[in-house]
Amino acid sequence: MQTDVWIILDSCAFLTQKHPNGRLVTIPEIEKELINKQSIQYHSNLKEHNLDIIEPNKTSEEWIVGKANETGDLDVLSSVDKKILALAYELKGIVVSDDFAIQNVALYTGIKFVSCSGNEIEELRKWIFKCSACNHIEDNKNNECRICGSTDIFRIKSR
Ligand SMILES: [Zn+2]
Repeated sequence: MQTDVWIILDSCAFLTQKHPNGRLVTIPEIEKELINKQSIQYHSNLKEHNLDIIEPNKTSEEWIVGKANETGDLDVLSSVDKKILALAYELKGIVVSDDFAIQNVALYTGIKFVSCSGNEIEELRKWIFKCSACNHIEDNKNNECRICGSTDIFRIKSR
């Protein structure tokens, strides 16, 4: 296993302790997502040895937001998810995540990814947004339907 490759750890890596070896790195906010004792302990053990904590820069975050908007994943990505992706983009690393929205944006942008669970998406998912009241479809999520004003809008696969 190469050790000079950046491995960006999402919360699943701390929960399952399953991830490739390399230059381990995560974002500061991940600590708040760890709720069970083992994963908190694992995080602090790694931090003492070989885990870097890095905040991605705003430019990479904005780039990721733009790309996630194109795939239709923006709406379901948390701020932690966006930062994980931004950091992976910046460091040209491999992102470790079980989150399908993260995986989808990674796939779309050419960021390498692996899962903790073994469940990885194999093809890009393109999402569109449909108003449940009038069935109007948009590429991007709006807070309310441009046609009928309903706020009941849901995400569907476009193909
Ligand atoms: Zn509508």
